[in-house]
Amino acid sequence: MTTTHTVLITGSTSGIGLGIAQAFAALGNNIVLNGFGNADEVERLRAELAADHKVEVVYDNADMTKPDEIERMIGAAISRFGRIDVLVNNAGIQHVAPIEDFPVDKWNDIIAINLVSSFHTIRHCVPGMKNNAWGRIINIASAHALIASPFKSAYVTAKHGIAGLTKTVALETAENGITVNAICPGYVLTPLVEKQIPDTAKARGITEQQVISDVLLAAQPTKKFVEIDQVASLATYLASDAASSITGAILSIDGGWSAH
Ligand code: NAD
Repeated sequence: MTTTHTVLITGSTSGIGLGIAQAFAALGNNIVLNGFGNADEVERLRAELAADHKVEVVYDNADMTKPDEIERMIGAAISRFGRIDVLVNNAGIQHVAPIEDFPVDKWNDIIAINLVSSFHTIRHCVPGMKNNAWGRIINIASAHALIASPFKSAYVTAKHGIAGLTKTVALETAENGITVNAICPGYVLTPLVEKQIPDTAKARGITEQQVISDVLLAAQPTKKFVEIDQVASLATYLASDAASSITGAILSIDGGWSAH
């Protein structure tokens, strides 16, 4: 990218989202950070990102389970920067449990954060992108958009839904200079994965070490975690003009997992 864009990344106070924010900032783009976290720590991240890359970085604490907060966040970002050029739907949570024990509140939260929030961010960003005849929507899906795993019913359902949303909006915006794609990472060692190791051990009746070797890395033929920077590089590529013919694509970056 040669032009300075405004890039809004949901769930960018940690993990993959933070890595994507850093990669876009390093290319000279202005950033809207979002997500939860300790206020001082988030402010430190925001200030560091702005200073390191001499770009503008704002933080918005909108809760992705709340449609009115999502609308407020998009409005505030457009008021501040005049436009949102790149929308990265990344916020996500996980819960691991057999279907008969799956807590209803966890199901509702996962569907709200991992799927429904993207409907709201997209519907509020597309009019501006159409006006500008340029936009990039990048949905951070998962290998679980293509493949199921036991005990992850809500997550797999939400991620398969994101694949459908990606393809549908890509068709609707294809003549408007907007591309809409989904990135499907395999396992990346972030807090989201670290937190599910104990529950996966419990659900499968194995040790936490066995979860890493026999469940997580067993899924990936490379036997390596995918790196945050690798996912971030794919995101910045999709935002580049070189990627303008890629739309409606469900792109795997999973060490060969989905080749099984
Ligand atoms: P993470 O836990 O490190 O980060 C999740 C981010 O989402 C955090 O910034 C958190 O504050 C934010 N968040 C959570 N609930 C929110 C809410 N209600 N409103 C706003 N923000 C909220 O996790 P991660 O591994 O970096 O995951 C990022 C995305 O990547 C998720 O969509 C996840 O499903 C996807 N993904 C992760 C992996 C992996 O192996 N880590 C693999 C495939 C896909």
